[in-house]
Amino acid sequence: MHEFDAVIVGAGPAGATAAINLAPFRRVLLVDRVAEPADRIGDSLAPAARRLLDDMGLWVDFAKDGHSPWYVARSAWGSDFPTERDSIADLDGNGWHLERKRFEIRLRKTAVDRGAVLLAPAKPIALSRSGAGWLLTLEQSQGPLHVSTRLVLDCGGRASSLLKPFGASRRADDRLLCAYVFGVRGVPSQSEGSTYVESVPDGWWYTSASPDGRRVLAWHTDADLMPANLVRSRSQFLEMAGRSRSLSAEIADASFDGVDAPRVIAAYSSALTPPVGAGWVAAGDAALSFDPISSQGLFHALYTGLASAAAVERSFLGDDSGLNDYAARLTSINAAYTRNLKSWYGLERRWRDHTFWRRRQI
Ligand SMILES: Cc1cc2nc3c(=O)[nH]c(=O)nc-3n(C[C@H](O)[C@H](O)[C@H](O)COP(=O)(O)OP(=O)(O)OC[C@H]3O[C@@H](n4cnc5c(N)ncnc54)[C@H](O)[C@@H]3O)c2cc1C
Repeated sequence: MHEFDAVIVGAGPAGATAAINLAPFRRVLLVDRVAEPADRIGDSLAPAARRLLDDMGLWVDFAKDGHSPWYVARSAWGSDFPTERDSIADLDGNGWHLERKRFEIRLRKTAVDRGAVLLAPAKPIALSRSGAGWLLTLEQSQGPLHVSTRLVLDCGGRASSLLKPFGASRRADDRLLCAYVFGVRGVPSQSEGSTYVESVPDGWWYTSASPDGRRVLAWHTDADLMPANLVRSRSQFLEMAGRSRSLSAEIADASFDGVDAPRVIAAYSSALTPPVGAGWVAAGDAALSFDPISSQGLFHALYTGLASAAAVERSFLGDDSGLNDYAARLTSINAAYTRNLKSWYGLERRWRDHTFWRRRQI
């Protein structure tokens, strides 16, 4: 039996950040089912993240890791004519387009450097209460590993059901899905340093140039509205994107050759209720997940990774008020997010009779 103060399930941005902040003080086991972070969509980091990275002593490494500045958010939303929001108007300056995989590898490595034990690939196959703490069985390559811990942090992302048997229930607010492909960019173009979103009758498009020379092209709609042919065929996906002249211009710097079908992932908003219980805490998407239109998920993962670790440390010192404050903070974040999301979707009034938009009208 191995003993830890905290076991963190999920070594994505939230879990690794929680480990970074808790491991200097406590025995922390960080577990992830994948050996190394996957290559995935989601590369726009909000400007305010710099403050968090600074506070956690992560900025110096971040600045060395080849992430590129994100200056402009362009959108054709509510009108055919794109408008721009420039980061010059943001008190925190510019955001970043991440080398997403490198970003996550760095967070995992920093967690280990600060004292966390990383076990990957591994995943919990049994979790039960034992006195004031927990017994956990992890499946890993060398056979089952039995672990006891005082506290469990669920950082397993928006689909995590780890804490369901212990009273946590997940409420999904919608059924948003994202289908996406990567292209390879040629020469540098004017769209570098920008993101572009465009609303269309049944959903919206997103594209941005990543620092690794690729361009992502993503389509968002509800699960029941996603055309099956689009998900199966790269050429039909590209053909649909090509129907918009503005979008075509935005992606013209990239070649989307290849035969791979678009990848499809869940992108719905959800909340875990409650986000904190006896001996457990959720952070990142596992606690609250956001519509990608908000570009809020990574900032939230860093913030809740930090805030949950601070609340857990306080509770180890005998003060549970930190956990209650953390839960209250999540409630207010969710309320503000829901309000902002409704206002943003409410700006699109051209297709109010289309199911996707009707579902999102205030
Ligand atoms: C289409 C799309 C686009 C997005 N774009 C952006 C963007 O541009 N900007 C932005 O800020 N956010 C974006 N996001 C959101 C962002 O990706 C997430 O908010 C962020 O990844 C959350 O981090 P996390 O650590 O909470 O969860 P995840 O990143 O989901 O990490 C969870 C980790 O837990 C592991 N795990 C899960 N279950 C288990 C288990 N049972 N055992 C062991 N390990 C487990 C997984 O392998 C994974 O490593 C986007 C999301 C989507 C869907």
